[in-house]
Amino acid sequence: MTPYRGRIAPSPTGYLHLGHAATFWIAQERARAAGGRLVLRVEDIDVARCKAEFRDALLEDLRWLGFSWDEGPDIGGAFAPYTQSERRAVYLRAWQQLRDAGWIYPCTCSRRDVLNAATAPHDDTDEPIYPGTCRAKRFEPAEFAEPAGVNWRFRVPPGQQMSFVDQRLGSQHSVAASDFGDFVVWRRDDVPAYQLAVVADDAAMQISDVVRGEDLLISTFRQLLLYEALRFPPPRFYHAALIRDEAGKRLAKRHAALSIRTLRESGATPDEIRARFRTPAPAS
Ligand code: GLU
Repeated sequence: MTPYRGRIAPSPTGYLHLGHAATFWIAQERARAAGGRLVLRVEDIDVARCKAEFRDALLEDLRWLGFSWDEGPDIGGAFAPYTQSERRAVYLRAWQQLRDAGWIYPCTCSRRDVLNAATAPHDDTDEPIYPGTCRAKRFEPAEFAEPAGVNWRFRVPPGQQMSFVDQRLGSQHSVAASDFGDFVVWRRDDVPAYQLAVVADDAAMQISDVVRGEDLLISTFRQLLLYEALRFPPPRFYHAALIRDEAGKRLAKRHAALSIRTLRESGATPDEIRARFRTPAPAS
């Protein structure tokens, strides 16, 4: 048995909110129950959307709420650095490996949705299926010493039946290229995509167990293809139920009233906030 290594991976694009904190709490509880370690990784590759002010607030709110981690940007650890904006070399190596093995191709289509590729695609922001316009064009890997200048897409094998056993939901199935298409692994403006960065980091940090929201299930299939292509052993996955508002919408940063900051400022204690992890949230 490999030792349990879990992680929480917030993106500092806003204040920590109740929805994310609830999922992180499950990640922490599962790591503790297994006698394992918990890693904090700051996912800030999309520098245009992330702010240092939110990063500091995030760490502060997590600690106030009762989180503690064994490795992270503030305390270091054997797999440092723990901040994605400092880990470009790791992503570049993965990109080179995929390029050399023919798993990815340069795409010159201009599509607005590519802009979203650097952040995790939660249910309302997932990328539409790419029609494959640039897939068959021939190119010489040697022409591309660096990824910048074009978008790089992963060649999703059409019709491949995929499955994995989720630690909460049981057997999960998907058909590649029909449920999701050739996804972006690197943006033309030289920003690695969430899918590539998260896989390269989870593998490099020897994460054994990924706990995250169930709205990322489709991304798990994309990531399983990357694990296979990069010959990394995949972790176990646990997709947590999401806290939703009364309208059934996933809690997100748009629910400003449910940010930990706001709840804190209105006098809520960590205990009271943690009690809300288990109950549906009222709409803000
Ligand atoms: N940084 C991502 C998010 O905030 C993490 C997703 C994941 O756990 O893979 O949604």
